[in-house]
Amino acid sequence: MKPPTFRTKISILALAALTLLGGSLWSYPGASPALAGMSAQKAAKSPAVSPGKGNAQQAFPESAPVPVSEALSQRVAEYHIDVKLDPETATLKGAETVTWNHPGRKPVSDLYFHLYPNAFESRNTTFMKESGGELRSDKMPDNGFGSMTLTDVRTSEGTSLIQRVQYVQPDDGNINDRTLVKLHLPEPVNGGESVTLKLQFEVKLPKVFARMGIAGNFVMAGQWFPKISVYEPVGTRGVTQEGWNLHQYHGTSEFYSDFGIYNVTIAVPPEYTVAATGFPVKTAKLKQNQKIYQFYADDVHDFAWAASPDFVVTEEAFSTPEVPGVRIKLYLDPLHKDLKERYFQAAKAALSAFSKWYGPYPYSTLSIVVPPKDANGAGGMEYPTLITAFGASESSPDTSLERTVVHEIGHQYFYGMLASNEFEEAWLDESFTSYAEDRLMEQEYGVMANLPIQASLVTSPQALTLETWKYSGADAYTQNVYLRGKLVLKDIERQVGTKTMDAILSTYANKYRFRHPTTRDFQKVVENVTKKSWQNYFDLYIYDGGAPDFSIDDIQMRTKENAGTGQGYESIVKVSNRGSHYANVPIKFTFSDGHTVERVWNGDNKNTAFQLISSSPLLSAEIDPQHTLLLENKHINNFRLAEIKPDTLSRWTLTLSKLLETVLGTLVW
Ligand SMILES: [Zn+2]
Repeated sequence: MKPPTFRTKISILALAALTLLGGSLWSYPGASPALAGMSAQKAAKSPAVSPGKGNAQQAFPESAPVPVSEALSQRVAEYHIDVKLDPETATLKGAETVTWNHPGRKPVSDLYFHLYPNAFESRNTTFMKESGGELRSDKMPDNGFGSMTLTDVRTSEGTSLIQRVQYVQPDDGNINDRTLVKLHLPEPVNGGESVTLKLQFEVKLPKVFARMGIAGNFVMAGQWFPKISVYEPVGTRGVTQEGWNLHQYHGTSEFYSDFGIYNVTIAVPPEYTVAATGFPVKTAKLKQNQKIYQFYADDVHDFAWAASPDFVVTEEAFSTPEVPGVRIKLYLDPLHKDLKERYFQAAKAALSAFSKWYGPYPYSTLSIVVPPKDANGAGGMEYPTLITAFGASESSPDTSLERTVVHEIGHQYFYGMLASNEFEEAWLDESFTSYAEDRLMEQEYGVMANLPIQASLVTSPQALTLETWKYSGADAYTQNVYLRGKLVLKDIERQVGTKTMDAILSTYANKYRFRHPTTRDFQKVVENVTKKSWQNYFDLYIYDGGAPDFSIDDIQMRTKENAGTGQGYESIVKVSNRGSHYANVPIKFTFSDGHTVERVWNGDNKNTAFQLISSSPLLSAEIDPQHTLLLENKHINNFRLAEIKPDTLSRWTLTLSKLLETVLGTLVW
């Protein structure tokens, strides 16, 4: 997900810093390089699938179809869903046949499903209590509540299980939270076997403010169906005891699911157009005053769709040596109908570069939905093979348009294919995606991230491996999971070099493709590629919220007679690190005659002192003048002027004001 707080809330927070330090979150040095000429080289491959029957409303869909494409993932869950949208009542009615292939060994007696729309059921759900009914800068509109009801649950033999439905709250015991449900099975499922359930459900769509819902005649159906939780066999994400990974829907958390197959039939009013995960199995057809779509997707871990009568639809085929063939489909809000080239360009640049860096994009479609302005809460969000851009609020937006598209396409890797647990290790999605986004924005659009400014926004450094609701607040979550994690990756890159960093990320992305990697898996890749231990670094800055804080504490200067050269000066400069250990700290000393001396402190102790003998008085000392220490967020104590009496200084070639200008002119953090 893209946090617009970087454009709004944090920008406001940062105003003081920006004014004080000069600069902005992003900078535009020189002219923007044009996009590389990338045009479709061949048509996208056509979908390889044998779709099933079964799109009658109210009846359970059949679980007959079998994909003919080679499985890229372990397809644990298989969904066949028929859903009907009624915009008048803002409801979805669905019938779902789900087959769960037990990936572990022990008999399992209970299945668990996420009923995410229940996050919006009342003010007392865990999501609403934690978020205060606000996500990013979007607030829940009046009477914006929504919910999901299971109306029928049966085994494949027809035995009703509806009386066995039990809501559970493993994270906080909040009995008003019904986002996670337990279903006790009549008979246990053994490891390696499968079980099929048939569910009927209704969704009362919330008004859009947090990813899903309805706004006018626009509908974003994300997290809209009962979705089975992830069962982790021994070894998955390092677990030593197999079992369910169970979490409620939280104010800051996103999602975690198993890979599988989706065969989804969507009925909407005739004037509506539907965008969805996967590809349409056949042309939408009109039947009984409904327009019926059928989509299929495999090797994905979620399925989302959007519908509107206003979409301006356009699509292009695209391929490169690393992108086997994809149809990019745009579903634009009419306000952005003239901006399609910008969306296509950004999408092509992202697909092309990320496929080169992180492995081929293996899907045959990528859909981009541009919501209307009043559905901005649905914007800037990733789903498998479908992303949303920010809501269209102006006809000529700045490069945040491209940045959002690039970011969400980045998530096709760090979320889509590298399906981390976003409840527990959200940085593996957001920081990695933000890192990739910065690289591409710099390469394609010449927009540089102002990392020292961004670092100064991290006022509450916390571990990157916290469960999302354990951060001290939504701001702290954003600061760490998006910004600090990205700075850690940039800091690793600074230490190992860009080429090695590229090798690290490429190895990680390719090795854990279609799996559920953890932070420890990433650490192992870093260590294997660089052939050294990173345990101390990870312990300080990733498994904990370490932050170095360097300070020039004191400057003492006295005159000293130099044999042969006459009067000279001896300066003692005391420096300290008030935060986490950090090696190789550059320090620059500037003298009144304009010359400078640079030293590197090895950072082994908390404090040290430098002695300098010079012929002109010391003017100032500055730690990290080039702002290479990306994890330091408190820059205010990095610089200190020596106290020089004006009459002493007057004998030197530069005046104090001139010197200050010289030094301060470079003071951009
Ligand atoms: Zn994101």
